[in-house]
Amino acid sequence: MKFERKLQLLIEGAKYDVSCSSSGSKRISDKNQLGNTAPAGVCHSFTSDGRCISLLKILMSNACIYDCKYCINKVSNSHERATLTPDELCNLTINFYKRNYIEGLFLSSAIIKDPEYTMQLLLKTVKKLREEYNFGGYVHLKGIAGANLETIRQAAEYADRMSFNAELPTEEGLQLLAPQKNLKESLLHMKRLNINELEYTGSKVLKKIIPAGQSTQFVIGATPDSDGVLLNLTENLYNHFKLKRVYYSAYIPVNKSEFLPNKPESLIRENRLYQADWLLRFYGFKTAEIIAEDENLSLEIDPKAMYALKNLDNFPLEVNTASREELLRVPGIGTTGAYRIITARRLCNLNFDDLKRMGIVLKRAKHFITCNGKFVGYNNNAETLYNLLAGETSADGYSQTSMFEIPKRRILLT
Ligand code: SF4
Repeated sequence: MKFERKLQLLIEGAKYDVSCSSSGSKRISDKNQLGNTAPAGVCHSFTSDGRCISLLKILMSNACIYDCKYCINKVSNSHERATLTPDELCNLTINFYKRNYIEGLFLSSAIIKDPEYTMQLLLKTVKKLREEYNFGGYVHLKGIAGANLETIRQAAEYADRMSFNAELPTEEGLQLLAPQKNLKESLLHMKRLNINELEYTGSKVLKKIIPAGQSTQFVIGATPDSDGVLLNLTENLYNHFKLKRVYYSAYIPVNKSEFLPNKPESLIRENRLYQADWLLRFYGFKTAEIIAEDENLSLEIDPKAMYALKNLDNFPLEVNTASREELLRVPGIGTTGAYRIITARRLCNLNFDDLKRMGIVLKRAKHFITCNGKFVGYNNNAETLYNLLAGETSADGYSQTSMFEIPKRRILLT
């Protein structure tokens, strides 16, 4: 098989792993245009100082021995298979890097003979890349659950970030759709890779491995698992294993199976999960404040606005006296807004014009705050507010900003 064909297959096979920030666009480009959102190849990641970097996103092999029902590379699919050698991968990375196409590598693989064999090949590749090819750029390496812990630990020494994809949030879901996978095993690897985990190195002198930390991915909508279950597990991963990111990938039907939905999962649901995830990481929310275990997030309204509507008794808050934690619970006030409010009110009492100048989204926040005791919103009725925030016509023509087309549907709160 020609090298170009191998590349096409292995780059295409990697695109359903969304541990990067560029999924979701379906715009089809004209052949006369420069650029196209559909093919895979280069994904983006963010460094700790906020820079966006381009990564070559590729599988080492798509010749998988597992049969995960939702995956295009599963063993029972009859399509072309290809595997790159460690040297081929290293050469490719170095050549792309020297041409300034990429700043790093995102390397994953299907399970080639068994998990340990696959992890050994990945280890060999990253070790070569660092020691023989002298590559100092960013490397995101997939960990293979089921491989020996020592092989994984050695690979972690060469990677900047590692990720074990949990895929589904329950053992039942995995049993149904990916029976060769095991959620506990993936979680155990994440726990042991946690840089503070003494047990992993067996030594009190810890070596700093994977400086960019760990991430994982969940496929959403392939099983009936609720957003509440997903977010509870996500919270535990952040709190106990210090994961840097959890990614959510809306299910895309690439295989036919009686166990799988035949429609893709809504990207709005994926977006709502990212919004809730943001609340957990940066706004001090607990999952229990956002959603119950058996619930799904609203598609019409974002999780923070939903929280405020369910807790109307806690509002309106006086912006001149509310704590930072309280301000962060107000729809329309973000972390930067809360900081600006707290800094500015040391000098004088703030009014609505001041808030506007600070960039506070008053058309949302006004329903949940007072300024010097003055209230200009409509917070007396949760149902009215819900419909206002969900984009129904309001007295002032307000509608919630949306990245996607939101179904027009009036929902009554009980
Ligand atoms: S292990 Fe499962 S998800 Fe991964 S490549 Fe193989 S079939 Fe696909």
